[in-house]
Amino acid sequence: MLLLVLLLPVCWAVEVKRPRGVSLTNHHFYEESKPFTCLDGSATIPFDQVNDDYCDCKDGSDEPGTAACPNGSFHCTNTGYKPLYIPSRWVNDGVCDCCDGTDEYNSGIICENTCKEKGRKERETLQQMAEVTREGFRLKKILIEDWKKAREEKQKKLIELQTSKKSLEDQVEMLRLVKEEAEKPEKEAKDQHQKLWEEQQAASKAQREQELAASAFQELDDDMDGAVTVAELQTHSELDTDGDGVLSEGEAQALLGGDTQMDTTAFYDRVWAAIRNKYRSEVLPTDVPVPSDPHLMKPKEEQPLVASPTAEEEEEEEETDEEEEDEEEEDSQVQGEQSKETPPPLVPPQPASPTEEDKMPPYDEQTQAFIDAAQEARDKFEEAERSLKDVDESIRNLEQEISFDFGPNGEFAYLYSQCYELTTNEYIYRLCPFKLVSQKPKLGGSPTNLGTWGSWAGPEHDKFSTMKYEQGTGCWQGPNRSTTVRLLCGKETVVTSTTEPSRCEYLMELTTPAACPEPPPELPIEGDHDEL
Ligand code: CA
Ligand code: CA
Repeated sequence: MLLLVLLLPVCWAVEVKRPRGVSLTNHHFYEESKPFTCLDGSATIPFDQVNDDYCDCKDGSDEPGTAACPNGSFHCTNTGYKPLYIPSRWVNDGVCDCCDGTDEYNSGIICENTCKEKGRKERETLQQMAEVTREGFRLKKILIEDWKKAREEKQKKLIELQTSKKSLEDQVEMLRLVKEEAEKPEKEAKDQHQKLWEEQQAASKAQREQELAASAFQELDDDMDGAVTVAELQTHSELDTDGDGVLSEGEAQALLGGDTQMDTTAFYDRVWAAIRNKYRSEVLPTDVPVPSDPHLMKPKEEQPLVASPTAEEEEEEEETDEEEEDEEEEDSQVQGEQSKETPPPLVPPQPASPTEEDKMPPYDEQTQAFIDAAQEARDKFEEAERSLKDVDESIRNLEQEISFDFGPNGEFAYLYSQCYELTTNEYIYRLCPFKLVSQKPKLGGSPTNLGTWGSWAGPEHDKFSTMKYEQGTGCWQGPNRSTTVRLLCGKETVVTSTTEPSRCEYLMELTTPAACPEPPPELPIEGDHDEL
């Protein structure tokens, strides 16, 4: 005791005489000169029954220094470290529980006094923490200054952008007018070109139709007397109108509009249109190939309509040869029943618009010049419009950033447009403050949204200690994922942990200087509080 007193002259508390296991605060309840009243008031006993290793009080207060009472507690002073209450059943149980070893005074175990060492470590830790806070706070002040400057610059930039937006808008309007002006002659010339082409097409179509009609007329006019008669028409049973497979006299007459015969002009004007789709020519037109392959029936672009098939077509023909034969057989059978003498060849009138005329001829030089001029005007207009859109977007982004709540002094602004990652065994977690939290499997795979920026969510007095990210990807049969981010004081900005305390609700910790509080004024180096 004397040694202790000598070693710790400042710790006057140690000198106060009190029963074993009693704290300084309670020592006045234990006065040797008086009977002892249990602290719960349940009994009063002679003082010599205090710490006599027999439990007298219900609350165990008469045996603070022994293990006699199951519910008692023992107080270690732990000089040099923190005082501590332990359950009194740990007294003399052979395990050192108090760093000053006072709980093992009679168990044969020798406990080394580790309080000084523990105290030193604790002080070191506290000093380190204080150092972190000091340094963090110093950085925080820089962050605040940086944002002040950055914000001013952004405001300047915003004004600049708003000005250039105005002139861009004017430019877009001007270019729109230029474009519209350039498009007028373009449209006129194009329309003219189109119209001309359509007229040409219609004319050649009419001409071909007339030729077809003429050749049909020649065919029908068997006796070549310049008139088609009812009888001559009747040789073409495919013109049957009532579906019985035979063109009766009455039907033929009706086709001739009641006349008994008809010359070529009247035939073209009054009859041809009604029969052209049914009519089957007996003679192959000389300028059209035999459509032996269904593919050849289809119009082919820019291919001369000659009967010599290309290599490719030959191949196709080979492939479909069998099919064709079958078809032909079937067809000729049907036809054969209708007309036994001469099986009519299978030639429907050729489509009236040969393919090469489907394609509009290229524009003439003047029209092309109008088109080029208009296109240039369109390009310029669209480019200006794009620039305007870009400026608009920059303005929106800047406005958003400038008006964002980055903490009481903007200290959290530096986190904007940054992302921080933490890799665990399974996942890579990614926090992009004020934007998004996501999680991605370490071994590849698409990221899962754990929440997008919601709001500051700390308690009222400490709103900026917590961020909330909400409305992430939905959990299967559960809520949308969300993440709470706790901001802790640190010198560096690091995601230190990620957990999922309850299903689909994540908790992340981010250290940042911006969360460092102002440290208390520095204590004098050698205080007189050895007990911390
Ligand atoms: Ca007792
Ligand atoms: Ca013990």
